Parts: sequence; structure tokens; C-alpha cells
Amino acid sequence: MTTPLRAPGGFPVVGIIGGGQLARMCAPPAVGLCVTLSVLAESEDAAAALVIPDAPVGAHDDLEAVRAFAKNCDVVTFDHEHVPAPVLQALVDDGVNLQPSPQALVFAQDKLAMRTRLQQIGVRCPAWAQVRTLAELADFGAQVGWPLILKTPRGGYDGKGVRVIESAQQAQDWIERAEHDAHVGGLLSQGLLAEEMVDFTRELAVLVARSPSGQAAAWPVVETVQTEGICTEVLAPAPDLDPDLAATLTEATLRIAGELGVTGVMAAEMFEVRGADGQPTYVVNELAMRPHNSGHWSIDGAVTSQFEQHLRAVLDLPLGDPSARAPWTVMGNVLGGTQPEHAQLYPTYKHLLARDPGLRMHLYGKQVRPGRKIGHVTVCGDDLAALRERAGHAAGYLQGTISE
Ligand code: ADP
Repeated sequence: MTTPLRAPGGFPVVGIIGGGQLARMCAPPAVGLCVTLSVLAESEDAAAALVIPDAPVGAHDDLEAVRAFAKNCDVVTFDHEHVPAPVLQALVDDGVNLQPSPQALVFAQDKLAMRTRLQQIGVRCPAWAQVRTLAELADFGAQVGWPLILKTPRGGYDGKGVRVIESAQQAQDWIERAEHDAHVGGLLSQGLLAEEMVDFTRELAVLVARSPSGQAAAWPVVETVQTEGICTEVLAPAPDLDPDLAATLTEATLRIAGELGVTGVMAAEMFEVRGADGQPTYVVNELAMRPHNSGHWSIDGAVTSQFEQHLRAVLDLPLGDPSARAPWTVMGNVLGGTQPEHAQLYPTYKHLLARDPGLRMHLYGKQVRPGRKIGHVTVCGDDLAALRERAGHAAGYLQGTISE
């Protein structure tokens, strides 16, 4: 592996394991901060490898590739949560400066570990149980009622690894797989996470950043809108959010980041629910320890974007101002369309750039596949309804669901 070229003047090299869109979106702020990025990419044409010159190809679970990569970096961070624990431990043993540390990262890698820890520190969660057998699942269902939610503790994203079940029998295949994997020491070795089905009013996300020396910053709380388990729209700030609840959510998320020793950006996905007293309150759904889809709005809508903040935080630099630049920012995710002609994004995007000069376009350089996140668009301004219309139009036009 070649040694990345660093800028003169003592500036550092930040290594990112994984070459997806999150690593790619760290590139613009790295230019300004004069930080060299090095990415361990899945392939030569990975989203980040297209824009970051130092992008050796290697797998995140290949110990020797990861080791060779990390030794050239001043700090190593992540594009995703999937680096296996033994690889992380080997890096720690090698003296690599990993941010966040494996001890913190485990709570984003493993939903059972996350629930256990959040319960210990007294953060509000849905009723949950670790289930290894159909009998345990049936017992939990008898307590909280059916339907309930069943999750694989590791490896889930965009709703994959989450299932609504009406009876224990419906989960027989997953339980059998979990039992089998427990024998071979596979991904599901701890069984499954069962949760009560939360009757939420909407989904919110709280994004914070924390540095190794303990400085922390929080962006305004946002609303995330999901379609078939995939986030399609983010509204910043969350409309009509009770200011007391916003403060409570922010405080809870900062506390989680502090208690878990998180460094870099962390997102807490939350459900807004009605409390017994009729007042709005929350439960935590899950944590991500990296820049997160719910924070993409911050590139155009905040003084400091989540990508710049992540670089600052993992380098233990002073954090930037996370406040919003406009009353409202709306981010629309662009998903891959289903028809062969949708693979050609260039003509479509030219039309949109002409139609709406205020639209901020962010495409990830990925092959179009149906439903895959291939980019996002952002608009900022005063009129929330008009912004939602513009972002929705642009995302739909790129996806091929809107033709005009
Ligand atoms: P992933 O890791 O795939 O993003 P999540 O745990 O975030 O999975 O769940 C995906 C979606 O499933 C959530 O955004 C939410 O809409 C729904 N969901 C998850 N847990 C619950 C729950 N306990 N009650 C109701 N809906 C849930």
C-alpha cells in the first residue's frame, strides 16, 4: 500500500474504512481543513474512491488489508459499522488511533448490546427482550402483545433485518437460523432482539458530535420520513416539535454519547410517542456512530456539516457551530429507479439543475439499482411546504416516478 501524501505544515491523514457515500462526502470539508483522506475501498469505483485519490482496495474484514491501511493514518474512522471485533482489536493492539473506539462502536454494531446499555443508563427504550427460542418469543409476545417487532442484532440497515410478526410461529425461520448460527459462532450468536411495536406519532433523529477530549455539539432535532422502511425525506428542524421535548432529546443523546464514550458523529434515531399524561415523549430506536442519513441536510443547511464535524471530532480539533443557516432545510433521498433508462442520471439531472437553480444536488457516483440510495437533494428557505414540494419533485424525477 502506498503512503498517502500529506499537506505540508503538519496536517494529518484521516483513514476511513469503507468507501461508500459517507466517506465520499467527507472529501469537500477535508479540502478546506487541509486534511488528507485515505479510504479503504471495496472496489476501484466505490463512491469515495471516485473522488479521493488515496483509495487502496481492500475488504473491511480482511485483517492484513486493514492493518496495512491503518498504519499510514494518524486516525482511523468508519464509513459503516461492519468491521468485525477481532479486526478492531488487532488495530488497537497495533496502537492505531481508532475513533470511535471498539468499546463504543459495539453499541452501534449490536442492537442487543445497545438496548442493554441504554437500559443501564436509564434512557427510554421500547419494551424489549433477547430471545433465543420460540418459547421465549411467545412469552415476550404474551407480555407486550402482538404484533411485535423482531430484529437481527447485527448487520441490519434500511429495515433489512427488521420484521413485524403476528405470532411466534412466524419467526420460526429466523429462530432456527439464530440457533444454527449460535453453534457456528456466526452473526446471530446472541439470538434475536424482540421489541414491542411502538405506536409512534413520527420518527425523529438527534445528531451530535463528541471529541476525545469531551467537547460536544448537537444539531437541531430533525424529523425523518420513511417509506417502506427507507428514509426518504428529512425535515430540519422537526416541525412543531415541543421545545421541552427537543431539549430532552438533545440532552438524552449527549448523555448517551458521553456515557458510551462515543467520538465523532453519533445519530440517535427516536420515536416520538404520546406519554401516559398525553404529552409527547420519546423512546430510542437505534444508534449510529458515523455521519448519518438524517444529517445530510447539514451540508447545505448548517454552519458546520456533519462531515466536517466528524473529521474535526475524530482529530480532536475544536468543533464547529452546528446551528441551522435557514429557518427550514428539506433533504430528499434519491433512490434508484426500476427501469433501464433510469440508469442514465446525467440527462435527468441537467433538467433539474435548469429547473431549480436553488436546489443542491448531491449524487454519489453509484450504479443505479432499484431502491438503492444513490444521492440526495437539499433545499433551504422559509416556506416548508414549498421546500418539500421542490425536494420531493427533484428526488422523484431522478428516480423516474415523476416525469415532468
Ligand atoms: P435498520 O437498522 O434497518 O435501520 P431500525 O431498527 O431502524 O432498522 O428499524 C427500521 C424501521 O422499522 C424504523 O425506522 C421504524 O419505522 C420501524 N421500527 C423499528 N423498530 C420499531 C418498533 N419497536 N416499533 C415500531 N416500529 C419499529
